[in-house]
Amino acid sequence: MAQALTVRINGGGVAAACCKALLAQAQVAFDCEPAPRPKVPAVMLSPATQSLLTDVFARQDLFEGLHLVRRRLVLWGSGDLVAMPHSAVVVSEEELLKRLSAATPAREGTVPEPAATWTIQASGTVHGAAPMQQFGARPASATRVKLTAAADPHACCMEAVPGGWLFLVPSSVETAWLLAAGGPPETLLGQSQQIGPQVDGLSASGGTFPAHPRIAEALCADGWLACGSAAIAFDPLCGDGTGHAVREAILACAITRAEGVAASPDDLLWEYRLRLWSGFKRHLEHCHEFYATGGTSDWWKAQCAAIEEGLRWMAVQRSPVPLGRYRLNGFSLERTAG
Ligand SMILES: Cc1cc2nc3c(=O)[nH]c(=O)nc-3n(C[C@H](O)[C@H](O)[C@H](O)COP(=O)(O)OP(=O)(O)OC[C@H]3O[C@@H](n4cnc5c(N)ncnc54)[C@H](O)[C@@H]3O)c2cc1C
Repeated sequence: MAQALTVRINGGGVAAACCKALLAQAQVAFDCEPAPRPKVPAVMLSPATQSLLTDVFARQDLFEGLHLVRRRLVLWGSGDLVAMPHSAVVVSEEELLKRLSAATPAREGTVPEPAATWTIQASGTVHGAAPMQQFGARPASATRVKLTAAADPHACCMEAVPGGWLFLVPSSVETAWLLAAGGPPETLLGQSQQIGPQVDGLSASGGTFPAHPRIAEALCADGWLACGSAAIAFDPLCGDGTGHAVREAILACAITRAEGVAASPDDLLWEYRLRLWSGFKRHLEHCHEFYATGGTSDWWKAQCAAIEEGLRWMAVQRSPVPLGRYRLNGFSLERTAG
């Protein structure tokens, strides 16, 4: 008799939360080992990410009452200020995880021995995490700030300054989180034309975190899939990290349930690897546009060179099969006609 499908999830972030919800809905037996770590103080969720989470958790009320961001202002390189409409919400990671947990059907158990059929590695901090290819070394800080009367509390702002970049994400009508890369926020604010006048003093620090793109050297293997930031970590300047974590969770769970769909288990692993490589390449290309045009100082040149190193690394990754032999139909994987 075939062994019943069982999944072990390592992780406690959005990717793990989505895997739990998707496996519970598919009535797959799973257990989860959370990974204690500091929580991200605030994430801005794009309309596409809100819509993905709404689908995964089958709940329309996940984002009720959250602070809205309606405009995106960008002052970059030698260009003029550009204003675009936006439709994002801002939420602390802790609050988001609380809402996702409340929307998950209770099904978690203990996977019986022998070991689970699949392990989904959705944390870089618990056992089984893969070493990462790192493109650059760009620490960034997150600091809570008070907004001045000049600030638009429903606009997020990105600004390139000679020493780095600033990203202001309003989290209420009076406060915002200021992400700063390239130097201390006080120094970069001193170089800023757009964000500086909106900030009325720095308050609590939300810590420092690596902001350069990273990708796991091994994204998957027999019975094992890396997912979320354990697979790929995105530069928060131009990455929709949460949206990618949700998409990877959908794909990882679909792969665990796709036995019989593929010609061989290896075929499915190549599909997973190729889709993640493709998302990472798009992210590097997007980063390159920003870092090639943000400034001319040595800091900007070094960031751009690191992204180009990433693009060269991507260019030599080889696959024995093409992408696109499978597609997602809802949350299940199926073969394409070709
Ligand atoms: C300061 C900051 C701001 C961000 N802003 C946005 C945003 O506005 N919109 C968006 O979509 N995404 C944003 N992200 C990225 C987003 O948080 C992650 O892509 C997402 O949470 C990944 O989910 P996961 O389940 O894979 O997380 P996990 O792998 O559980 O990790 C979640 C986050 O915590 C970080 N982390 C993991 N371990 C540690 C540790 N030991 N110490 C400190 N940090 C750790 C990771 O780099 C990751 O960003 C931001 C990340 C950071 C750090």
